[in-house]
Amino acid sequence: MASPVRVRFAPSPTGPLHIGGVRTALYNYLFARKHGGALVLRIEDTDRSRLVPGAEQYILDSLKWCGIDFDEGVHIGGPFAPYRQSERKEIYREYVGSLIRSGHAYYAFDTPEALEELRRQLEESNAENKSYSVAVRQRMNNSLTLPPDEVERLISDGTPYVVRFLMPENETIRFHDIIRGEVEVSSNLLDDKVLFKSDGMPTYHLANVVDDYLMKITHVIRGEEWLPSLPLHVLLYRSFGWEREMPLFAHMPLTLKPDGKGKLSKRDGDRLGFPVFPLEWRNPVTGEFSSGYRESGYFPDAFINILAFLGWNPGTEQEFYSMEELIEAFSLERVGKSGSRFDPEKAKWYNHQYLIRKDNNELAALFLPIVMEKGFEPSPEHLTVIVGLVKERATFINDLWEQSHFFFRPPATYDQELVSKRWKEGTGATMLLLCDELKTVPSFTKEAIEATTKTFIEGSGLGTGHVLNALRLALVGSGTGPGIYDVMQVLGREEVILRIRNAVSQLK
Ligand code: GLU
Repeated sequence: MASPVRVRFAPSPTGPLHIGGVRTALYNYLFARKHGGALVLRIEDTDRSRLVPGAEQYILDSLKWCGIDFDEGVHIGGPFAPYRQSERKEIYREYVGSLIRSGHAYYAFDTPEALEELRRQLEESNAENKSYSVAVRQRMNNSLTLPPDEVERLISDGTPYVVRFLMPENETIRFHDIIRGEVEVSSNLLDDKVLFKSDGMPTYHLANVVDDYLMKITHVIRGEEWLPSLPLHVLLYRSFGWEREMPLFAHMPLTLKPDGKGKLSKRDGDRLGFPVFPLEWRNPVTGEFSSGYRESGYFPDAFINILAFLGWNPGTEQEFYSMEELIEAFSLERVGKSGSRFDPEKAKWYNHQYLIRKDNNELAALFLPIVMEKGFEPSPEHLTVIVGLVKERATFINDLWEQSHFFFRPPATYDQELVSKRWKEGTGATMLLLCDELKTVPSFTKEAIEATTKTFIEGSGLGTGHVLNALRLALVGSGTGPGIYDVMQVLGREEVILRIRNAVSQLK
C-alpha cells in the first residue's frame, strides 16, 4: 500500500512571503487535501545572516488569511517536532557525521582568502566548472588532502571548517520530476556543495533533505528555482541510503512579471503599481513599506482563485473556484511547464467578480465601518439595499463609498459641465412641477415613481432625456449612478423633493 501523502511548505523567514511563495503553499495544501494527506509547515531558518525579525509571524498570518491550514507545524506542533530547523541542529550534526564516515562528505578548512583565490584562478583560466569541485578539490585544504592526524588536530584546535559533499565524478544523475519529466545532469558540472557551515548550522540542502526524510515527506512541491539543487538532493538521498524513501518531486513554473520578462520579484510590486505580498509589510530593519492584497481590498477567496490559476489550469471553461472546488479539481499533472505571467488587471477583474457575487448583507457588513467613519449610521437593511444597487461598479469594498456617497448626503456641488449641458432655462420650473407630481405618488416605490414620472414627461412635451438628466443632476450631483428610480426610492420622497428644490435654487 502506498504511504499516506505528506507534503510540506518550507519557507525561510528572510522576509515577507510573496505571491509565488503563497502559490507554493496553496498547491501543497490542495494536493494534501485532495489526497487526504497531511500538510506540514516547516520553518527553514538555518541561514542566520538572512533572518528578518517578524517574517515568521508574517508567514503564519498570511497563510491564515488565505485559509491555508496545516496539520503539523511550527505553530501547532506534531509528531515530528520541532518544525523549526534552528531547533534541530543536533540532528543535522549527527547526519552530516554519518556522511563523513561513509566517505560521502569531507571537512574543508579553506580560508575565505583561499576560496577567493580559487575563484579568481578559475575565472582567469575560464574553467568549465568555476566552483569548488572534483577538478580542484585535490589542491585545496581539506580532509582529502591533509593527513588524518592533521585533520583531527585542526578540528580540536577549533579551526573553522565546513563540511562539503563529495560529488562523484563522471556520473549522469537521472531523475524524474512530475512537472518537468525526465531530467539528466552530469555530476562533473556540479560542485562540492557545503552541507554544514562553520557556525554549526547545516545549509539548506542538508537540512532540507534530512527533514524531508525524517518527516516522511512523500511529495516535494516547490518553485522551479530549486530544480538545479535537485541532483544534489538526489545524491544525498542515495548517500544516506534513503533512495527508496525519496519523495517525488514537482517543480512549479516561475511566476513572471506582467510583461513576461523575468521572474516576478519582491521588488516589483509597488514599483509596477500592484501588491506582490498577501499582507502589507514594513521591513523592521530598513523601514521599507510594501502594500498587501488584504489591505488593498482583495477578498481572500478571490486571491486564492487568482493564485490557483497562476500555473495551473483545470482544462475546462470554469473560472471561479471555491477552495473546496479547487481541492476537487487540482492535480499536479495540470500544472504547466512554462512560467506564468502575473496579470494585475486580471487580479482586479477577479476581485470584482467575487464582489458582485457576494451576498449584499455580507458586503454591507464590510462596508458599514467605512460609512460610519464618514459619519453616517445607516441601518443594515438600508445599507444592504444601497450596496445591491452599486456593487456592479465596484472592484473593492472601498470603491462602494465613491459609488454611493450621494445616498447619505446631498450633492455639495454639481458637475459644472453637465449643468451647462443639461440645466437649461426653464429646467428649474419643470423640476418644481415634477415635485408636485411626486408628492401625489401613493406609496413611494420605484414602480410608482416611474409611472408618475413617465406620465409627467409625456404631458410636459419635453424629452425624456432632458427631464431625467436634470433629475439625476439634482439628486446625485453628477451624471452617474444606479437607475434613477432606484435612487429615488432609496432616498425617499422628502429627501427627493428637498434635493430638487435645492438644485432649483442653486442652479439658475
Ligand atoms: N526554504 C526553501 C525556500 O525558502 C524551501 C525550498 C524547498 O521547498 O525545498 O524556498
